[in-house]
Amino acid sequence: MEGIKRREHAEIFVLGKRVDDVTAHPFLKPSVKSFKATFDAAFEEDTRGLARAYSPFVGEEVNRFVHIHQGPEDLVAKVKLLRKLSHKTGTCFQRCVGWDALNTLYVISGKIAEREGRKEYLNRFIEYLKYVQKNDLALAGAMTDVKGVRTLRPSEQPNRDAYVHVVEEKAGGIVVRGAKANITGVAVVDEVVVMPTRAMTERDAEYAVSFAIPLDTPGVKVVVGRQINDGRRLEGGEIDGLPYMFNHEGLLILEDVFVPWERVFLYKEWRWAAQFVEVFSNYHRQGYAGCKSGLGDVIIGTAHGLARQLGIADKPHVQEKLTEMVFLNEAIYSAGLAASWEARRLLKNGGWWVDPMYANVTKHLVARFPYEVAKLSHDIAGGLLGTAPSEADLKNPELRPLLEKYLQGVPEFTAEERLRMLRLLENTSLSVAYLVESVHGAGSPQAQRISIQRVYDFQRAEAIARRLAGLKAEASGDARAEPRRPAEAEK
Ligand code: SF4
Repeated sequence: MEGIKRREHAEIFVLGKRVDDVTAHPFLKPSVKSFKATFDAAFEEDTRGLARAYSPFVGEEVNRFVHIHQGPEDLVAKVKLLRKLSHKTGTCFQRCVGWDALNTLYVISGKIAEREGRKEYLNRFIEYLKYVQKNDLALAGAMTDVKGVRTLRPSEQPNRDAYVHVVEEKAGGIVVRGAKANITGVAVVDEVVVMPTRAMTERDAEYAVSFAIPLDTPGVKVVVGRQINDGRRLEGGEIDGLPYMFNHEGLLILEDVFVPWERVFLYKEWRWAAQFVEVFSNYHRQGYAGCKSGLGDVIIGTAHGLARQLGIADKPHVQEKLTEMVFLNEAIYSAGLAASWEARRLLKNGGWWVDPMYANVTKHLVARFPYEVAKLSHDIAGGLLGTAPSEADLKNPELRPLLEKYLQGVPEFTAEERLRMLRLLENTSLSVAYLVESVHGAGSPQAQRISIQRVYDFQRAEAIARRLAGLKAEASGDARAEPRRPAEAEK
C-alpha cells in the first residue's frame, strides 16, 4: 500500500476529479483492500500453502500471483487459490490479469527464442520477471484496445490511435500512444503490462507490441469506470456504504509514453500477435473457474442464510433451487480443474499451458451460469432484495423499533441480520464482478465459441460415427484419434 500511495506522474481520475492517494480515496479503498488480499493470502494460515510457490528464476518462494507455472499442479493451485480468495473478498481481486500476462510473455518470448533463435525478448523478460518476483509487484494486464470501428484492422482505422501503437523509435526505447479499455484494478497497481489484443497483419506491425511500464510513468492517465451502487462507497456506514471489498476497472490512456528497450517484450512482431492473444485468453478463461465459483459460494451461502431467516430453508422447492445453484457453480469449477490437470507444455522446458478446449468451456459456462445462479438467489431472497430500507433508516431511533418489528422473519434472527444479508446479496449477485465481467472478461462468448469450434475435430467425430454405422472410412477422418485439433499455440 505504501508503494502505491503517492505517484508523481500517473493521473488517476474518479468521477471527474484527480485522485492523489488511491489508498485513502473512498471510491478506490475497497479495490485496494481486495487487491491487498492477494498479498495477505501468502501469510494467512488457510491460504499460505496455495499462495506461495518456489520460483526457479529467483531461487526462492514467491507469491503465486507472480509465479510462472511449473506443471499441472501449479495450474490446479491457481484455480483453488482463486476460489478461496473470492471467499475472502466477495469480489474480483484484480491481480490475475497481470499474472496471466507474465505467463504469456514467458511462453511467447520462449517460443520466439526456440523457433527463431532470437533470445533478446526472453532475456529481457526474465530480467523483468526477477524484478517483479523479488519485489512482489502488483501488476495489471492491459489487453483490450478501444478498437474504434470493429470491422477495420488496426492499420485501417480512421483514428490511428484506436489501438495502442508505436509512434516513435528512439535509441533508448520506443514511444507509444493509444488507450486500453476495461483494465481491471488499473488504478491500484505498481505496473501495467500492455499486450496486443488481436491477430495482426504486416500492415499492423506498429500495433503488435508488448511492454511493461510503472503506472507512475509520464503520459499515463487512468479514468476509473462507474459501477452499480458505486455512490454508496461515498456514504460510509457499515451496511449500505460498501464497507467490504470491491473491484474496479478503468480506461488506461497512454499519451506518448516512453518505454525503454529493456521493458519491450514484443516489437512489431505481428506474426506472434494471434498466438499471444490465444495463450493469454486461455489462461484467463481457466482462472474464472476459481474466482467465479468462489463468488458463487458467497451467493449460495447468502441465499441459504436468507432462507433460514424466512423459515423456508427446508422447503422442497427452496432445496431444489439451492441444489441447482450448487450444480451450476460446481460445473464451472470442474471445467477449470479439467483445463488445469490436462495442462500441456508449450516450450521444451516448461511454458505450462491449460487445455484450450476445457479452458474455453469453463469461460463459456461462466458467461451463462452466474446469471442463472443470481436469478435463483433473488427468487429465494424475496422482493425485499430490491426494496429494503436504508441503513440510515435503521439507525433512525424513531424507525428502528418499527423496522425491527416488521422486517423480522424467524425470531432468532434480527431485522439487521436480514438487512445485512440482503445488502451482501445485492452487492455480489448484481455486481459487475459476477455478471458483466462473467460475460465479457477474457473475451466475449463468441470468442469462446470460435475457439471451441477450432479445437474440436468434426471430421474425426464423424469418422467415429461412420465406423459404428458400418460405413467406409474416409481419407479425411481417423476413427482411432480423439476428435481434437491442436490450438495455434500448440502447433
Ligand atoms: Fe482474477 Fe477473476 Fe478478477 Fe480475472 S475476474 S482478475 S480471474 S478475480
